[in-house]
Amino acid sequence: MEELIYERSKPGRQAITVPKLDVDKKPNLIPDEYVRSTAPALAEVSELELMRHFVKLSQLNHCIDKGFYPLGSCTMKYNPKVNDMLAALEGFKELHPLQPLDQVQGALELMWNLQQSISEITGLPAVTLQPAAGAHGELTGLLLIKAYFKDKGQHNRTKIIVPDTAHGTNPATATMAGFDVVEIKSNKKGLVDLAALKAVLGPDTAAIMLTNPNTLGLFEEEIGSIQKLIHEAGGLLYYDGANLNAILGLVRPGDMGFDVCQLNLHKTFSTPHGGGGPGGCAVATKSTLEPYLPKPVVVKKDGKFILETDRPKSIGKIKGFYGNFGILVRAFAYISSMGSNGLSQVSKDAILSANYLRARLSSHFNVTHKQPCMHEFVLSASRQKERGVSAGHIVKRLLDFGVHAPTVYFPMIVPEAMMIEPTETETKETLDEFASILIAIDEESKNDPETVRNAPHTTVVRKLDEALAARKPNLRWRRES
Ligand SMILES: *Cc1c(COP(=O)(O)O)cnc(C)c1O
Repeated sequence: MEELIYERSKPGRQAITVPKLDVDKKPNLIPDEYVRSTAPALAEVSELELMRHFVKLSQLNHCIDKGFYPLGSCTMKYNPKVNDMLAALEGFKELHPLQPLDQVQGALELMWNLQQSISEITGLPAVTLQPAAGAHGELTGLLLIKAYFKDKGQHNRTKIIVPDTAHGTNPATATMAGFDVVEIKSNKKGLVDLAALKAVLGPDTAAIMLTNPNTLGLFEEEIGSIQKLIHEAGGLLYYDGANLNAILGLVRPGDMGFDVCQLNLHKTFSTPHGGGGPGGCAVATKSTLEPYLPKPVVVKKDGKFILETDRPKSIGKIKGFYGNFGILVRAFAYISSMGSNGLSQVSKDAILSANYLRARLSSHFNVTHKQPCMHEFVLSASRQKERGVSAGHIVKRLLDFGVHAPTVYFPMIVPEAMMIEPTETETKETLDEFASILIAIDEESKNDPETVRNAPHTTVVRKLDEALAARKPNLRWRRES
């Protein structure tokens, strides 16, 4: 690895010139015992060295601006930079959440308009923009369901049904919200098994949480029957809409009979993510759940926008202030610039890309579920595994070609799973290159399995000892003595 900035340090070198101190040298603000007597051992480097340090750091990680990123279920697509620029406009960026409402009418109007758009996209009338991310939106949605049943005096409804093709956050969220999770197995087609569903339905059913398309990238064909069964049993339907780029402008959760749904704004709606940056989430509900929405709610009253707090049945606050506002600006800018035709084109392109790649790769890798997919698909490396090359080896080998690994070993019902989401923003040429690389790695698994097993070979950090890294994480640079 390249020399680190600390190793390039030379006493007396400086990257910046700080202005002369023009206040009392030592105001007595810090108690003596906390004032350090020696200078911190920071790197002393020139401005150029510092610049190179940060530019190099920025290039160590993979990112969508650098290369293809088919990480299934994460929607690592390109997000137009103009939406970042809009969120950085001074009138948005410099706002303070405690400013008086008459000074922030524009921001509230943007939120209100975004709520209207989300409502149209989901077919559900009531919307909150408070949660900070997808799983947080799931929690919000389940707390709404909980408040609803409590309000109706139905305290026995304690169970949330979760198919085995659900995203991992679904059972985790249900547990966190204080429900019991009932898992149901999917059928041969990888879809909800109606008989299995009927078998667990009862007076203790609170809701079903459905990821649709599910984590196999498959649309639930029996969605009409599922919603009928759940509602007849007195339960509600929760739609995990994290990956809305699969269905935008094509179908709506509300029309499918769902009662509540979360949308990950940072996946479909133009916020760059990965690396732990802020996310955003909208939760949309039927009017039956509207009284329980987190407060405050942005409403329009007598031509003005207000933050309504007088909501006696509200579950309360789910986040400080009203959500991650910069993310909401990006989402609104994205929706407005795409328009409704543009948005449905997004989903058609996402679906086309996934099906194209799937077709190109299906003679080289096992495909456990044969029907066409939505925005993503799952390949199994079980054939390669017989040659001693696992899904984990294959995706690490991809790194040598400048491609990020797909999601692996998920969903768990597919052995040696590789979950691939090409997204709508890649060209056919990129998809073809990716297919050629995977096919070449398949060839390698026959002729040169050792090279695949020891990959990556070209990255800054080579194959990691994951067990050791988990047990003895080394998170800090130390000078070698
Ligand atoms: C990403 C994702 C989530 C979780 O969203 P976060 O923003 O990461 O909390 C939930 N469900 C599905 C289907 C997802 O793809």
